Order: sequence, then structure tokens, then C-alpha cells
Amino acid sequence: MAWSYALVIDPAAADDARTDFAGSFTPIDPTAPALSVGELSTQRGDGIFESIGVVDGHAQETQAHLERLAHSARLCDLPAPHLEQWRQAVAAVARTAEPGESVLKLILSRGVEHGPSPTAWVTLAPAPDNTRARVDGIRVVTLDRGFDSEAPARAPWLLLGAKTLSYAVNMAAIREARRREADDALFVSSDGFVLEGPTSSVILRFGDRFVTPEPGAGILHGTTQVSLFEHLAERGFETTYERVAASALSNADAAWLVSSVRLAAPVRAIDARPLAVDADFTASLNRYLLSPRT
Ligand code: PLP
Repeated sequence: MAWSYALVIDPAAADDARTDFAGSFTPIDPTAPALSVGELSTQRGDGIFESIGVVDGHAQETQAHLERLAHSARLCDLPAPHLEQWRQAVAAVARTAEPGESVLKLILSRGVEHGPSPTAWVTLAPAPDNTRARVDGIRVVTLDRGFDSEAPARAPWLLLGAKTLSYAVNMAAIREARRREADDALFVSSDGFVLEGPTSSVILRFGDRFVTPEPGAGILHGTTQVSLFEHLAERGFETTYERVAASALSNADAAWLVSSVRLAAPVRAIDARPLAVDADFTASLNRYLLSPRT
């Protein structure tokens, strides 16, 4: 990925009396080294992030992403991000985007070891071409996440509902899916409930009812899933959050893995069992997701 723009935010400049934060961002050369070797984000993966889809210079669902950044910060005992400062940083970076799709990342790290404050930065890069996944669909394998569904409540230090920088496990799951001749993974809890993909939420269709696992089950509450549920409800469909047993996957009429940049990828096989892809319906979902959303 070739980064096209980056800026560093000064979290120490975030005082509530201020309304214009432009002076608290420093544009940096996105191709040059920028972080200290003492960074805890690189040493320990100790930080949080968000990936926002940008379409023709418009950052999608900025508010929902900022709220989730603040939620992740709370779970990780990081200083609360000043949302107005971040909102202005997102707008400044999105303005530099080329026409078409880009990915904008927000990163808030615990900072440099023994340093005074967190490190915060925003990057922009062209999005990969996701047409194949959106149109042809993806093959998915279920993988045990290794936690039972009570683990998030019993062991909150696992940070299961936070979008932390520690994605090595998620990336390993995708590599394992590829070894099993699939394109992506779908995590299930060790007691047999459907959770999420390593970088996506799952939506299942049963007739005219659309179901996603409850976010309290230690999964990320996806901004794309929330936005699609609003859209589906407006189209007259029923949408619900439920505990979904892995055994119910075989009763689904359709399924999608949804996320901010790839958008809605229809699932064409789960554990090698084919699933119908409704190309027109999926295209309508992706048209909606590509339209300007706030
Ligand atoms: N779940 C996980 C683990 C993710 O990493 C992501 C996105 O990266 C999602 C769900 C989907 O979230 P969103 O729709 O906000 O991109």
C-alpha cells in the first residue's frame, strides 16, 4: 500500500476552550520514517485504531468511528481522544484524497515508553480494489477463537470489544483460512457461537430477517453493520441482534462479511458448503454503502 498522506496530532493541544485545531496537526512525509523506536504501538501493539472508508473525498461515518475510538480508549485505559480535534483531523486528511475509494486510518498509541503523552496520527492511502469480493463473493471457514462466550465478561483485560493495534492473531486467522482454501475466516466461540470475521462483522439472512451477533459477546460493534441495519430497516426488513449458534449457519439463506473498506462481501461458501449469492441485492447494499454517509 502506498500511503498518500499522513499527519501527526498533538493530543496535548486538545483543550476544551479551543474550537480550531488546525494548528495541532503536523503533516508529515508518509513515505519517510516517523515514529520513535520507543513507541509502545510498535513494541507492544499497545494502542487502538480505526479504518474509515473515504469515497470521493468524503470520510464515511466519521462520528461512529470516533465514538468507537473513544470506546476502545476507555477499554484500554488510554486518555480520552478529543473528538472535535480528531474530527477536524479526519476532515483535513480526507480533503487530500483522490477521487474514488481510499482508506483513512486513525491511530492512538500509548506513546513512547516513559514518554509524557500518547502518540496520535492519521494516514491516507488508496483503497485496494475490492470488486471481486463484492461481486463474486468470498469463501469463508469457521475458526475457533479459543474463548468461550463468557470470556469477555470474565476477563475484560482480553480487550475483546476494543479495536486494538494487536491484530497479529486476526491476520494469522486469515492466513489459516487461506491455507484451508478459503478467502476469509469467521470466528466462533469455543462454546459454539458465531462471533465476527478477523476484520469484519457478519450479517446473516433468514428469509426477510437479518441477524448479527450481539456486540456484548466480545466482538467489535461494526459501523458498517449498524449502517446497513438502518438501511435494511428503512427498506422494511426485520433486523436483530442475537446469540447465533454456529449450527444455525447452515440454515442461513445468505450471509455477508461487512466492513468499512471492503464493504459488503457476500459469502458464497461456509466451510465448503455453498451459499447462494444474491448479486442484485448485494449490489444494492454496496451502492448504499458507497453513497455519502454521515
Ligand atoms: N470486527 C473486526 C474484528 C474488525 O476488525 C472490523 C473492522 O476492521 C469489523 C468488525 C467491522 O467494523 P467496521 O464495519 O466498523 O469497519
